[in-house]
Amino acid sequence: MNIVPEIAALDTEMRGWRHHLHAHPETAFEEAATSAYVADKLRSFGLDVHTGLAKTGVVAVLTNGRSDAAIGLRADLDALHIHEQTGVPHASVNAGRMHACGHDGHTTMLLAAAKAMTERRNFDGTLYFIFQPAEENEGGGRVMVEEGLFDRFPVRAVYGMHNWPRLPAGTFAMREGPLMAASDTFEIVATGKGAHAAMAYQGKDPMLFAAHAIHALQTIVSRNLHPLESGVVSVTQVHGGDTWNVIPEQVLLRGTVRTFRDDVQALIERRMRVLVDGIAAMFEMTATLRYRRGYPATVNSAAETAHAARAAAAVVGADSVDTNPTPEMGSEDFAFMLQRRPGCYVWLGAGHGPDTPNIHNPRYDFNDAVLPIGASYWVTLAEQQLPRAAA
Ligand SMILES: [Zn+2]
Ligand SMILES: [Zn+2]
Repeated sequence: MNIVPEIAALDTEMRGWRHHLHAHPETAFEEAATSAYVADKLRSFGLDVHTGLAKTGVVAVLTNGRSDAAIGLRADLDALHIHEQTGVPHASVNAGRMHACGHDGHTTMLLAAAKAMTERRNFDGTLYFIFQPAEENEGGGRVMVEEGLFDRFPVRAVYGMHNWPRLPAGTFAMREGPLMAASDTFEIVATGKGAHAAMAYQGKDPMLFAAHAIHALQTIVSRNLHPLESGVVSVTQVHGGDTWNVIPEQVLLRGTVRTFRDDVQALIERRMRVLVDGIAAMFEMTATLRYRRGYPATVNSAAETAHAARAAAAVVGADSVDTNPTPEMGSEDFAFMLQRRPGCYVWLGAGHGPDTPNIHNPRYDFNDAVLPIGASYWVTLAEQQLPRAAA
């Protein structure tokens, strides 16, 4: 393991930052105290700090030498609406909010890398340390991009990292192409004709629509998608009816669609419309489908994935870097940055045995043992990707 010496020296301090952030979690676009904490730390390291992008976003700039080479390193600031059940001394003091995705650890590792780089200054170019709000659900990364992140801070490539408790600590995984899926949501409202349940022949029963639709939607992936392509269609909510003896007027279905490719996403949406219209016609009622595109797929570019693998191998050894992991159908709003710039999103192994709670679990806590590994990866990547400082 090659931990950068300036990072090793920060080990105790990093745990302190992480525990402070963990105890004070804030959710999407309300990360005011977190943002101020991060900005203060970055200023104290002597960095040029910009605040207010996407409300609570922070970008710190470190320039050395004259080269116009520039890369961006990104972490996320936000927590989740979860009641923490870890019982750790640094547990959340903000009721109903919890750093259950490890963004406290991500923020800490990027802070440590920023501090180490101000001390090392052995590069020629500019480093942008990007701390984004609202990764969970609200697309803070998209808002930063829309508000001109890359116009104000012209990076050539951008890199992201997420702790991954399903992989052992001391490992990394990344792959060229999609690593995380596009995440869409849908809502279907079927409107029939209410009736006395004993006189069903006088009505148009939207429950029948729901039963047929849930079943038919499952044929899209199995019967319309190429067997080597990936997609998920999940109906996750069914709402309709209030009592035993009434056929309701309406039934509402909601759910999510996950895909890696634009053409697969378009195929699924098109087939959903055909099925919804067809089933409604079959039962002589009306149905509407609202399909909302959310986060795009997180797609890593080839060269930057090779750069990320090289940096990870320099820290943990090539045998501990998996460059062909099975992608996950979860999603990540770093995808919006990767739509604008080449880059790579990596998983940082963070597991400590088979019982490690996964992210978004109320018993999850970021694994402090990987703080120096992730921070050393950032430093190593930056120094490999920017020219060496002139002697
Ligand atoms: Zn999360
Ligand atoms: Zn996360």
